[in-house]
Amino acid sequence: MGKTKVNIDQSELLNKVNKYKNVSKNISNLCKLIAKDYNDNGTTYSWSTIYNRISVYGIDTGFDMRVKKTANITAFTQLLLKSVPVEYRKYVIQLRDNPSSRRLAIKLKCLDCSNYQQGEVRGCQCFDCPLYIFRPYK
Ligand code: SF4
Repeated sequence: MGKTKVNIDQSELLNKVNKYKNVSKNISNLCKLIAKDYNDNGTTYSWSTIYNRISVYGIDTGFDMRVKKTANITAFTQLLLKSVPVEYRKYVIQLRDNPSSRRLAIKLKCLDCSNYQQGEVRGCQCFDCPLYIFRPYK
């Protein structure tokens, strides 16, 4: 699943990058505008999903693709909370309180990858994903 199950068409994404890159301040701002564009048309994507797909497709945004590193776990948590749906934010808080938990990190990554659909994680068929055998909801 992974790259294909969040079904973002490459050329459509390229068009959106070109539409918004000149009015964006940085890469995260661009991803948020594109996510909003998709969401306004009935599809729910987080900005980090958009960021990941831009990276996977190798689309040139004109921006430095490295999102600014957060200096501490509090800042990291605040950043993550913005992109995680309300019902899953408890895992972000748990990760803040236990930042060495790989289980929580993988759970949040798989949920993000699957657009927060537990069934998509359970049925993931991306056998070459390094997280496949560790994914939750099996
Ligand atoms: S194992 Fe998790 S991260 Fe990997 S493709 Fe499946 S859902 Fe996505």
